[in-house]
Amino acid sequence: MINPATGVVFARCPAAGKAQLEYAIAVARRAAADWSSKPIEERAALIKRMAAVLRENQDSLAELLTREQGKPVSQSRDEINRAGTQSEGMASIPIPVEILVDNAERRIELHYRPLGVVGIITPWNAPINLAVGPLVAALYTGNTVVLKPSPYTPLCTLKLGELLRDVFPSGVVNILAGGDELGQWMTEAQGIDKISFTGSVATGKKVMASAAQTLKRVTLELGGNDAAIVLDDVDPKAVASKLFFASFVNSGQVCMAIKRIYAHERIYDALCEALAAEARKAQVGDGLDPKTQYGPIQNKMQYERVLGILEDTKRSGARILAGGELPARPGYFIPPTIVANIDEHSRLVREEQFGPIVPVLKFRDVDDAVRRANDTRYGLAGSVWSHDPERAAAIAARLEVGTAWVNQHRTTSATVPFGGAKESGMGRQYSILGLKENMEPLVISVLKQAM
Ligand code: NAD
Repeated sequence: MINPATGVVFARCPAAGKAQLEYAIAVARRAAADWSSKPIEERAALIKRMAAVLRENQDSLAELLTREQGKPVSQSRDEINRAGTQSEGMASIPIPVEILVDNAERRIELHYRPLGVVGIITPWNAPINLAVGPLVAALYTGNTVVLKPSPYTPLCTLKLGELLRDVFPSGVVNILAGGDELGQWMTEAQGIDKISFTGSVATGKKVMASAAQTLKRVTLELGGNDAAIVLDDVDPKAVASKLFFASFVNSGQVCMAIKRIYAHERIYDALCEALAAEARKAQVGDGLDPKTQYGPIQNKMQYERVLGILEDTKRSGARILAGGELPARPGYFIPPTIVANIDEHSRLVREEQFGPIVPVLKFRDVDDAVRRANDTRYGLAGSVWSHDPERAAAIAARLEVGTAWVNQHRTTSATVPFGGAKESGMGRQYSILGLKENMEPLVISVLKQAM
């Protein structure tokens, strides 16, 4: 494993083969009967115990997370803490039997039962949070799990597995590290009933095609190209610091980061200047240094991809207002970069950059801004910013996304559904909607007639 802040190998990690996957699936299937028959309160109590274990081990897990992923250690701590809070929140959501009809003649009840074994496949940008969310949803609803982290960031997920051995009964949680092929085998396996996948659109499509062979259920949490629309009545300085953080946190490697900013022409220049000022004062460095606010790109492949987009942006004649120059140090560093006057058809606007370069585009007419924000196959999230939240909310309702925020971006919680419209995904996570994705509806229809 390579520390992205230094470019140096700091650990080695095993990769599971097909036989180990088959063993893990068999173990998970065997454990499923016992686990699913436990009262939901008992499963919730163990999940809450898991949240406590995460917090007890927050410091050591956070250091490992920063070493392998790159983010500042304070944000690694937040990620672990948040995973705990989300777990407790999800494991407190009631899953009642729904009574659809109840009259003198008949009673029709809607129950939900677990699917069996859920396969979870995660990406490298937030390995703990993106593992724990689907893990808790699957476990709370009575499934057992086989989980595979990204080959770029397997270490803290394996560590999590080690910690969970003392929390859950044997066979309930199975974590295997491995390459992309391990993920593919999971999608093909007969013994896995559902795949919860978080990753890129391209891989999400492969997962869905492969899962079709066994009609596995899928939840797909995929990429985004979120637009923020900034109206003419904002205070540019006040908005800039919020937009900046929501764009550049984790150096832009967040599915629901702001990836395009549409600013009204009246505040365009002032907003660009305020964003550039934020970029110039950003502390970029090794995440283990407590002063660091923005770490490196997580891996070489993504670093080179983002550099390619930066080169394309420079060649196109767009204006780089801040950043854009690489620091003379090892590691995969690109400083926060603000780009103005860029063509709408450039790579930086059309593609998901998933890195610290953000374009600021000008609009005059709100209808035009909404049209341009929606002119993409992505549909994860978006936001509208205004002095008048109700004016912004009416515009937010026109965004073709799973979540449209007003005067904020990137806030989620255990009881609020999250997921993508269009090619940003399928299904939802969190909330009762997310839990139901891990269960099969079962209708019990009773004719009240003695036979
Ligand atoms: P990726 O698609 O390359 O890999 C994700 C996971 O899929 C890895 O574990 C990988 O080993 C596995 N995989 C690769 N090929 C596979 C196959 N054929 N079958 C099954 N599994 C396979 O994504 P990434 O580069 O690790 O992550 C970045 C992407 O994830 C970005 O697009 C980002 O927006 C997205 N993301 C989405 C969310 C969300 O909630 N919507 C959250 C975080 C990240």
